[in-house]
Amino acid sequence: MTPAGGGGPGASVDGVGGAPPRLVVRGALAIRTGPGAGSEADDGEPGGDVVVGGDGRVVSVGPAAPSDGGAAVPELDATGCVVTPGLVNAHHHLLQTAFRTLPGTRGVSMREWLALMAAAYRRASVDAELVGAAARAGLAEALLSGVTTVADHHLTWPAALGPADTVDLARAAAGAAVDLGARLVLVRGTAGDDPEAAALSADAIAVALVGDAPGGVRADGGVQVAVGPAGVHSDREETFRLLAEVAARRGLRRRTQANEQVDVVAALERYGRRPLDLLDEWGWLAPDVTVAHLCDVTSDEISRVAASGAHATHAPGCDVPMGWGIAPVARLLAAGVTVGLGTSGGGSNDAGHLLADARLGMQVSALVGRQLTARELLDAATTGSADGLGRPELGRLRPGSAADLCVWDVGGVADAGVADPVAGLLWAAPGRRPRHVVVGGRVVVRDGRLVTADEREAARGLSRRLARAVA
Ligand SMILES: [Zn+2]
Repeated sequence: MTPAGGGGPGASVDGVGGAPPRLVVRGALAIRTGPGAGSEADDGEPGGDVVVGGDGRVVSVGPAAPSDGGAAVPELDATGCVVTPGLVNAHHHLLQTAFRTLPGTRGVSMREWLALMAAAYRRASVDAELVGAAARAGLAEALLSGVTTVADHHLTWPAALGPADTVDLARAAAGAAVDLGARLVLVRGTAGDDPEAAALSADAIAVALVGDAPGGVRADGGVQVAVGPAGVHSDREETFRLLAEVAARRGLRRRTQANEQVDVVAALERYGRRPLDLLDEWGWLAPDVTVAHLCDVTSDEISRVAASGAHATHAPGCDVPMGWGIAPVARLLAAGVTVGLGTSGGGSNDAGHLLADARLGMQVSALVGRQLTARELLDAATTGSADGLGRPELGRLRPGSAADLCVWDVGGVADAGVADPVAGLLWAAPGRRPRHVVVGGRVVVRDGRLVTADEREAARGLSRRLARAVA
C-alpha cells in the first residue's frame, strides 16, 4: 500500500488557499482512494490521514499529516480502521421504506408485485408528509450504513396532483436530506403517468429544487434533480421523449430501469421488441443515461450499451430475492460499461444497506460469470454510482474530491484473522455499520450514532404516519 492521490509525509494541514482545515481523519490502517491499478492488492490504499479543507473537500490523503499541536482543528480517530469514500446508492425508491415486508409481496411475479405495491400506495394515500417521513427514515438508515448519497427514483405521483403539489412531494424528500446532512438525487420518475403532466412536474421540480444550476446539481452539491421513466413496461415513447426534452433543457441526467423480468415480457407483448431496442430507438441509450437492473441481457445488448456510453446500475439486493436474475456485471465491466450499485426500494429489498448488497453482488457473481472482487464491488458502490450521476467529485477520496467518507472499524472479532482488511469489508462481518461518516467535511455519524437527528424518532415518525393511514 503506497501513497496515492497526493498527500505524503509533508502534506500541509493548512487547508485550501491557506484557510484552516475543517477536519483531520487520523491514523487509518488503509484509505481506499478510488479505483486502483486493478489487482486485488492495488496501490490506491495508503494508510494515514485524510485532511479536509474548509470548503468540505479533500486536501490530502496519505501518511500522517503534521499535527497542529492540539489547536483548533477537530480530529476523527481512525486508528485500526479502513476509510472508504462515502457509498453512493445509485438506485433507491425511498418511499418504499414505508412498505417493507408487505404481506403478499414475496414469491410472486413482478406483475403481481407491482399491483400489490400500487394498492398499498393507494391505501396509504401518498402525500408530502408520507414522502417526507419515508425519506427521513430511509436516509437516516442510509447514513448509518455508510451511504452518503442516495438517488431516489420516485415513481409514485398520485394523478390528482398538479405540478405544484408534486413540487411539495419533492421538497419533502429534499428537505429530509438537507436536515440529515445526506446528499439526495431526486429522480422525477414515472410509472404510467400522463406524459404531459409528468414533464410539467419534472420541470417545476427542477426549477424549485435546483433552479438553473449546471447539471441539475445545487451549488452546495446537496441536492440534484434527474428524470426517469420506470421502464418500457410502464411508460410509452411519449413519456421518454418529453422527459428527455426537460432533461436537455435543464441539463439533467436521465435514469431508467430495463430488462427485469416483466420488462422483457411486456416489451415483447406490446412491441414485439426487446427493451434495449426500444430505449436505443427512443434515444435513451446515451452517456447521460443510467439503466438499472439489466438482469436479462444478451452479449449483443451488452456491446450496444457499452458503445452508447450509457451507465448501468446493479441491484442484486432486489433482483436476487425477487427472482429477476443476476446482471452479468463482469461482462458489462469487460465491455467497458461503468457499473454502479443500488439497493432499489423497500418493496423488494427490505434493507437500504448498500455495503450488504455489494457483498451479495460479490457472492452471486460467480453464478453468472467471473468471480468479482471485493474492490470491484466497492468501486461500483462508490465511483461507479457517482459517475453515472455525473458527479466525478463523489465516490473517491483524492485531493479536490468531496470529503464524503466512512470510517470502518476492523478491529473487532468479526474481522479477526482477516488478511486483507479492505476485502474483508465485504467478505467478513455482514451488515456492518461504519463508526464515523462524514459528508462534505461534516460529521453526520459519530461512534455509530446519527449526529443530525434521533434515529429512533425518524423511525417513529414514519410509524405514526402509517398508523394514521390505516386508521
Ligand atoms: Zn428499482
